[in-house]
This record gives sequence, structure tokens and C-alpha cells, in this order.
Amino acid sequence: MKSSEIFNPTLREVPSEAEIVSHQLLLRAGFIRKNSGGVYSYLPLAFRVLKKIMNIVREEMDRAGGQEVLMPIIQPAELWQESGRWEVYGDEMFRLKDRHKRSFALGPTHEEIITTLVKQDVHSYRDLPLLLYQIQNKYRDEIRPRFGLMRGREFIMKDLYSFDIDEDGLDLSYKKMYEAYSRIFERMNLKYRVVEADSGAIGGNESHEFMVMASSGEAEIVYCDKCHYAANVEKAQCPAPEPDGAKRAEARPLEKIHTPGVRTVEDVMHSLAVPAESIVKTLIYWADGEYVGAVIRGDRELNEVKLKNLLGCNELLIADENQVSQVLGVSVGSLGPVGAEFKVYADQEIELMDNFICGANEDGYHLMNVNLGRDFVPETIADLRNAIKGDPCPVCSAELDTTRGIEVGHIFKLGTKYSEAMKATFLDKNGQERPFIMGCYGIGISRTMAAAVEQNHDENGIIWPLPIAPYQLIIVPINTKKTEQMDLAWSIYEQLSGQGLEVIIDDRDERAGVKFKDADLTGIPLRITIGPKALQENKVEVKKRWENETVLIAVEDIVEEINSILSQY
Ligand SMILES: [Zn+2]
Repeated sequence: MKSSEIFNPTLREVPSEAEIVSHQLLLRAGFIRKNSGGVYSYLPLAFRVLKKIMNIVREEMDRAGGQEVLMPIIQPAELWQESGRWEVYGDEMFRLKDRHKRSFALGPTHEEIITTLVKQDVHSYRDLPLLLYQIQNKYRDEIRPRFGLMRGREFIMKDLYSFDIDEDGLDLSYKKMYEAYSRIFERMNLKYRVVEADSGAIGGNESHEFMVMASSGEAEIVYCDKCHYAANVEKAQCPAPEPDGAKRAEARPLEKIHTPGVRTVEDVMHSLAVPAESIVKTLIYWADGEYVGAVIRGDRELNEVKLKNLLGCNELLIADENQVSQVLGVSVGSLGPVGAEFKVYADQEIELMDNFICGANEDGYHLMNVNLGRDFVPETIADLRNAIKGDPCPVCSAELDTTRGIEVGHIFKLGTKYSEAMKATFLDKNGQERPFIMGCYGIGISRTMAAAVEQNHDENGIIWPLPIAPYQLIIVPINTKKTEQMDLAWSIYEQLSGQGLEVIIDDRDERAGVKFKDADLTGIPLRITIGPKALQENKVEVKKRWENETVLIAVEDIVEEINSILSQY
């Protein structure tokens, strides 16, 4: 392909709305263009990358026994009402009505559709297991779509659903997908980690996320180098703190102190000269129509996922400060668990804290020498905080470390959540009716492309991993007016593309500097430069995008050299 003919309009300026590197570079290098918030067109170079990702995914899904189907994007409300998710899904679902005023959704996911499909046509254990997948656009009406392809409102997903006879069958399907996913990200040359994840609103029990490692990743991961335990921070359990023998302090009398203007944990630390470890903070939430308070140690971060799972609520929002003052008659900064007019849920660490300080549920006052049990009794005591670096590993007790990643794949054991709700059953060996045991397995295709850029770039542009690069190689003749340079460039081009390699030739009448800049920005992994000096010695320059130095290679050896590099990456 000639550079002059490729439709990849590059930008000199970084668009101001682009906050993260992948968004900036994909726009600048002419891979994507925005149509509306969170909705993008994929230009030719991007679509080549997406097709490569899809091909790898398809090959591995087929190899694991998956069969590809294509289901409708438009989904009738009745199916979602049957599963009970039409109400639960909330504003994230794009909803529409047809001319007969019937309600539909633009599919954010396909459990309802596939369960209905299988229920209609699969009736016997003999037809199981069944693994069906599709690659298709999905829709989610994000409140604030941002970060380019990372959190779009329309995005490309691969979703596979497994149907099994029993739990053992599900275990096997799950294992096959786990292995297929690992191969997929290895084949793309992406650095990734598999972590234990929270299965959240989708239900079910076991769940893993596949994370592409990137310092800009939105997900915090805790991991253990000793035993390979890794988990999303949302999921990572904090082990119950051990009471250290008889060293509990004696409970002192409860004391109310005047603390005007003291609102935050930092304020309390400064005004009373105490460490955060002796303070308890109260966070107030609006959970399915009522206020609940979560109490955790002053220096800890509340884990909203854990709280939400504990409450089993559909909606958990941090409460509005003004409303709290009006309804409870106390400002957020002075809330506390003693005498609270809301249900109190305590993190397990609070149980081992003696004589702590907290808000007095009265503006301008705090309580000192508070003790759980004597002064208040929470609804529940549970693990409610985020794990942090240095916490003991829940498996082997070594110290945990933290890193960041981007979630690109997620696998879930659903069990019978959908098959029971939607009465999807089969007849087992003994003629008994049983619900299908299901699993679901997703990969964000367009998100994987963005994650690959987040992980692989430098100040000059993208560095595509070879297996998913739009083209593998670019040939840059320094001066397109020199016939001998162009002749050699075309001759190498013919040889390499004749072997099936994807090659660009930069035939533009531009300065060499401009051509190099564009090649770097676009991220083509290999570059062959043909200049006058090298030509005198019958040599060309080879440069790997991810290395700084260039190597001179004799013209007659160039094809072999390129093949040798390609076989290594
Ligand atoms: Zn460990």
C-alpha cells in the first residue's frame, strides 16, 4: 500500500478532550474519529488492527469448541422483564420504542437473547455442552463517556455463553475459556495478568478478569509474588485483623468534645494531635431509598463494591451533602455511629479499635473514647475496606504489592441465574427437567486496541505489537525523486508483499524527517530506510520501532533479515 493512498488523516495538535494517551494517539495518527460522545468511526488502519484482534479471538474460540453466531442488537423489553433486569439495568441501557410503542433495548449484553435462543431449540442433555459466541457492537449509555475507546457508548465485544449439564461441565467450560483467553493475550504480545474479580450485578460466583498491564490503567490490582495470588482491588479480601492477645486497652468513659470547624479526618488529626489510626470515619450512602452509614478506620478507603454486595442493593450512591444536613440535621463531617438515625455497617478493623474518635452526630462536636459494642452496635461487621500494598496475602500471608491494569476480558460462572429466571431447561439422563448451567465470557475488542496503545507507546507515538499491527513494515525511500532509491524500494516491497507481509511504501514527496515522524506516530513495527549513503554500499537501514538504533543490512540479505525478526516477535 502506498502512504499517499492510505486514509489516515493525522493531526498535529492533540485534541483537548483527549485525556489519555490511547485516545490522543489514535486520534492524532488518524485511526479513529468521534461521531458523538463515546461513539467512534474506525478508519482503515484501526479496522486492520481490530480485524487482527478479532481473528486471534475467533481462532481461539473455535479451538476451544465455540461456534460463532450473530444475534440481534435490538432486543425486546419482554426478555429483559423475564430475567428481571429491565428495571435493574437503569439509565445505562439505551431504550427505544417502535411504531407500535413496543419497548426495546440496544443490547448492552446478550444473556437474555442467548438463553431464549437455546431454550427454544435445545431440549436434551445430549446436545450439551454448547458454547456459542459472537463478535458485535454493544451499547451502554455512560453518564460521561470519556477516555476514547476505553469507555465508549458503542463498542465491539466478543461474548461467548456456555451451557452445561452440571457444575462439573461448567468448571470444564470455564477452564477452557480461561486457557483460551490466556492464549489470546499471549498471541497479541500483550503483558497481562489474570485476577480474581467481583462478579457484581451480573450474578453468579466465580469470576476472573484479564488485565492488560498499564500504569494508566483504571483498575488497581493487588498481587502476591510469593504465591501468584492476584485480585482486582474491588474483590481482594482483607484478612480479619488478629487481636494481639491481652493488649486491648481498657475502655475509658465516653467524652463529648467541642470541635468547631473540624470536618475531615485530617482536621481531627491536626486539632487533636492524634493519628488517623485512632479515628473512625463515617461515610453516608443512599442505598435503594434509605441512608446507610459505613464506618472505617480514618486512614482506610471504603470499598463500595464490598458494601454494595453486603447490602445486596441495586443502587448505591454517596449521599448528597445538602440532603443529609436537611434530613438528619447534621453535616456530613460530623456524622458518627453512636446514636445514629441510619443503619451502621462497620469494617472489621473497628472491632479491634479501642477508645477511638468519631463524629458526634451534632455539628461542631466529636466523641472520644468510643468503643464498638459498648457505645453502638452495627447492623453488620464485615470486610469493607480496599486492600493496600503491604496487607497480608489472603493465601500465603506474604506482603501484597499493587499495580494497575486495564480490564480487557472478563469470565463469569453464571450458574442458573438466567436459566431459572427464564425457565430454560433440558431433560437429563433420567428424564428430569433441569435448568442449564451457564457461563459468560467477554472480551472488549475495541478496548483491547486502546489498551495495547496504553501499554505500548513512547513520546513519538504508538508501538504496535507485531501480531496486531495494521501493517508490519514500512519502506521509506529518503528521496522519491531519485530513481535508484525508488526502484530498490519497489523491488523490496514486491519481494516482501509477495511473501504475504503487509507493507507500506512511503511514496510521498516529503522530507525524510516528516516521513520518520509519521511512521513513528502510526507505530508500524519495522522500518526499512533507503538513502543515498547506504545505497553506495548496497545497504539499507532497518529499524525496530521499539528500539533506538538502526542496523545496516546488505540489500541481498534484507528479506531473510526481516523474516528472522518477524519469527522472533
Ligand atoms: Zn501469597
